[in-house]
Amino acid sequence: MRWRGLLEAAADLAWGGSCAGCGRPGPVCCPACARLVRGQPPRPVPLDDLAGVVWARGEYADELRALILACKERQGLGLVPLLAELAVGSVAAVLRESWRSGPVVVMPIPSSRATVAARGFDLTWLLARGVARRLSRLGMQIRAQRGLVLAAGTRDQVGLGVVDRTVNRQHSLRALPGPAAQVVLVDDIVTTGATLTAAAHELEAAGHRLLGAGVVAATPRRDGRRWRSP
Ligand SMILES: [Zn+2]
Repeated sequence: MRWRGLLEAAADLAWGGSCAGCGRPGPVCCPACARLVRGQPPRPVPLDDLAGVVWARGEYADELRALILACKERQGLGLVPLLAELAVGSVAAVLRESWRSGPVVVMPIPSSRATVAARGFDLTWLLARGVARRLSRLGMQIRAQRGLVLAAGTRDQVGLGVVDRTVNRQHSLRALPGPAAQVVLVDDIVTTGATLTAAAHELEAAGHRLLGAGVVAATPRRDGRRWRSP
């Protein structure tokens, strides 16, 4: 609920809040945490199906994880601009690798209606809009557009294991009709890459050209290999 987020923001202003990254009293993200997450350069995420195509700003761990969780689970609308700024770096890396010329569409991975209602805002849409706005200021022909929808019957990913996630997401995204475009996908977190793979298949079947995906964070690999930015 948006008003709840606003009330919480007002309360923070009036009585002092704390940093969602480290818990210190102060703004919703303190300068030290902001510096820390901004300081991580985008890196390609080692995913089997989408190697070299997905870029993230850091591991879904520590301060970055705390900031994303606070944004998603505590109606942290105030953290969206920072997360969008981080996503810009990932999308810019995708563009540097695979874009040559022509207009680009930034497309969010959709969330379920229940998730958006509980959160009070549509995080991935706001990220996509923030990314497009920032890059268009640099002179690029780039805009945000919702081009994927969740097919009926898709459950929320929360609480599902890896196998269930894959089954749940297979054929669960549908591309909306529209003219063919060069597309960069945007999401907050990539875990197995199953969602992005499903989205890539749908978009390519619908005639789009997928340039890649820019995400804020990638969950650490289960095999323990770290890929933290230097
Ligand atoms: Zn902090």
